[in-house]
Amino acid sequence: MVTAIVLAAGSGSRMNQKREKQFLLLDGKPLLYYSLKTFEASIVDEIILVTKEKDIEYCRTEIVEKYGFSKVKKIVPGGKERYDSVQKGIKASDRRHKTVMIHDAARPFVTNRMILDSISAARRYKACTVAVPVKDTIKVVDDYGFGEETPDRSKLYQIQTPQTFDREVITEAYSRLRISGDKDITDDTMIVERYLDQKVKMVEGSYRNIKVTTPEDMIFAEAIIKGENNSYEKE
Ligand code: C5P
Repeated sequence: MVTAIVLAAGSGSRMNQKREKQFLLLDGKPLLYYSLKTFEASIVDEIILVTKEKDIEYCRTEIVEKYGFSKVKKIVPGGKERYDSVQKGIKASDRRHKTVMIHDAARPFVTNRMILDSISAARRYKACTVAVPVKDTIKVVDDYGFGEETPDRSKLYQIQTPQTFDREVITEAYSRLRISGDKDITDDTMIVERYLDQKVKMVEGSYRNIKVTTPEDMIFAEAIIKGENNSYEKE
């Protein structure tokens, strides 16, 4: 069985908006609505929604109850950093569920195909992430803004969510993270790689599976949603 942890406890400081990005309106509905809708309609058994304490009531009444998302079993307060929020989500989830999927609410265009592929890959490899090959050349730069290295582009992937794990793997990785006290964590795949030496399988994502982070991302998101035939839904 599968738990999906949907993260909506960020501040969205790069958005320059009063309201956090996960609650900005996209085609009249909060951004968070879109990923919840996709998880609700999927084979996922349980959704744990993580949000700020002050937003729990809004999420309950204006999103979960309003749209009848019955798989959302708990809405729990997040933490200071993304990984604190993930930890709280894992703790609140049903331990009998062997597969744990972690998703950023700021990515409204997750699809059912990505969810199914991720669950299969997690069962087989214990850890996977949705990802796409990078399109641009990427450079590592020094402290003065000069290029230091140009990694081989054919080996570079842009990492998205959902990221999916065997429960024992992600739980153990998080307990080691706690012990280490490391702070430089940007996603969950790097935790399992770093502390468990667990390999992470890439699952095909989509260039439409954007993370809404800066104001122009809302323009892209509007374009995607209004796009011809809404073809992202047909994947
Ligand atoms: O800040 P970033 O873009 O990495 O956030 C990715 C996702 O993690 C967002 O959906 C955000 O709401 C969530 N998040 C969270 N708790 C935090 C920070 C971010 O749930 N403390």
